[in-house]
Amino acid sequence: MKSYKLLTPGPLTTTDSVKEKMLFDHCTWDEDYKQITQQIRRKLLKLAHVQEPEYTAVLMQGSGTFGVESVFTSVVGKDDRLLIAANGAYGLRMESIAQHAGLSYLLYAKKDCEQPDASEIAEILAENPDITHVSMVHSETTSGILNDIRSVGEVVKRAGCTFIVDAMSSFGGVDIPTKEWGIDFMISSANKCIQGVPGFSFVIAKRRLLEESAGKARSLSLDLYDQWKTMEKDGKWRFTSPTHVVLAFSQALKEMEQEGGIEARGKRYAQNNRLLIRKMKELGFRPYLEEAVQGPIITTFYYPDDCDFSFDEMYHYIKDRGYVLYPGKTVEAETFRVGNIGEIYSEDIEKVAGIMKEFLEERRR
Ligand SMILES: *Cc1c(COP(=O)(O)O)cnc(C)c1O
Repeated sequence: MKSYKLLTPGPLTTTDSVKEKMLFDHCTWDEDYKQITQQIRRKLLKLAHVQEPEYTAVLMQGSGTFGVESVFTSVVGKDDRLLIAANGAYGLRMESIAQHAGLSYLLYAKKDCEQPDASEIAEILAENPDITHVSMVHSETTSGILNDIRSVGEVVKRAGCTFIVDAMSSFGGVDIPTKEWGIDFMISSANKCIQGVPGFSFVIAKRRLLEESAGKARSLSLDLYDQWKTMEKDGKWRFTSPTHVVLAFSQALKEMEQEGGIEARGKRYAQNNRLLIRKMKELGFRPYLEEAVQGPIITTFYYPDDCDFSFDEMYHYIKDRGYVLYPGKTVEAETFRVGNIGEIYSEDIEKVAGIMKEFLEERRR
């Protein structure tokens, strides 16, 4: 099989040493394995700049969406009302989760290229005193926009509401002072900036609010409180855990520490991102977002005006040469996306820009 590197926002390219950890079939009930889970939970809290007992970490089987759905269906009770701030597909997925679960909610939607605005959210909260929870995405992978969860967190706290943040594609790549920013539940997954493989999501939760959610869950397998209660005892997962994924994730966390933690990783991602945008602009690709709101994880580009080619043609040309891009997801324009997280370095960005240049030259000839 021909190998390639992923310029996608997860799953992403991981190290061989992370993948090698999956060659061992670990049993789930022995002490070593349970300790690995406990250590992962402690390390996640540290990365989020929070501590027991005020906060706690819960791991949940499934992809990132399972984590978001777990929080929504476990924490938003029958008498509660949720405000969803959305500016892309992942925000709208939150609405879909709320609909499926029959939650009472209000949608505050912005364009994909615009951040949800804290003062507008403050107004909505003032007009709707029945709202108890507010949710939003930090890094909206749809466009690559980085939302201002800090200022939104401030107004959410002032209104006395619970703040739920999908930090799926930012946690580990962008530093998030969870408590200072007023975040009560933060969700991310194994296969994004920590650079593990897909298989579970995790939630950094304000312990008091998690405890208050006991018995509220609308789903058995996604019951966040019950999952936590079991895991909290000794590190045992409630149902079969993705053992290989857990071992790989534990290694990924070690490698993240070796790299220099979130600070160093965030710096590498931001450098990749700036280099990518500079190189792509030189080739005639205009970024979809304004520079001020562009996040460091993934970038959406317009196709150049003087070229007519399909995403498929470009995708296959580049894939044959060792890199995989991502189709556009924003509905507002014809675009494609290039991610720059995972085991990706400036030489990869240089290389892919070179391949892109060749592709354009062949097309223009
Ligand atoms: C990746 C991602 C998710 C989760 O998607 P899954 O396919 O369920 O892993 C949720 N929100 C954002 C912003 C993401 O980038």
